Amino acid sequence: MYCEICGKEPAERHHVVFKSQGGLDIEVNFIYLCPEHHRGPEGPHMCKKTDLMYKQIEQEKLFKMFGAKATFKIKEISGIIRHDKKRLERKFVKVKNHCGEYAAVDIVRALMGGRLY
Ligand SMILES: [Zn+2]
Ligand SMILES: [Zn+2]
Repeated sequence: MYCEICGKEPAERHHVVFKSQGGLDIEVNFIYLCPEHHRGPEGPHMCKKTDLMYKQIEQEKLFKMFGAKATFKIKEISGIIRHDKKRLERKFVKVKNHCGEYAAVDIVRALMGGRLY
């Protein structure tokens, strides 16, 4: 993998929404960064501005991914983000829904770790 900022390799996989913040192991939550752009002073672990920028980019991507209609079932969410349905059910157990239909904004919020940026 190459760094998405400078093109150097090897790059490390960064969770845009950290695991500790409720981020999932899904492609949309990954960015590949060289050690400098990952852990350096301007990287997302050291610089709040960079961290927020990556989170806002991911959030935009998610709104596009869930922009096709108003509500989605867990099975559809699972297909869109390519994440295991059972794990997703556990993640979404407390997320507001109507008869198993989740509003796009609630899905994005849940995938961003329970908040919007
Ligand atoms: Zn780099
Ligand atoms: Zn990281």
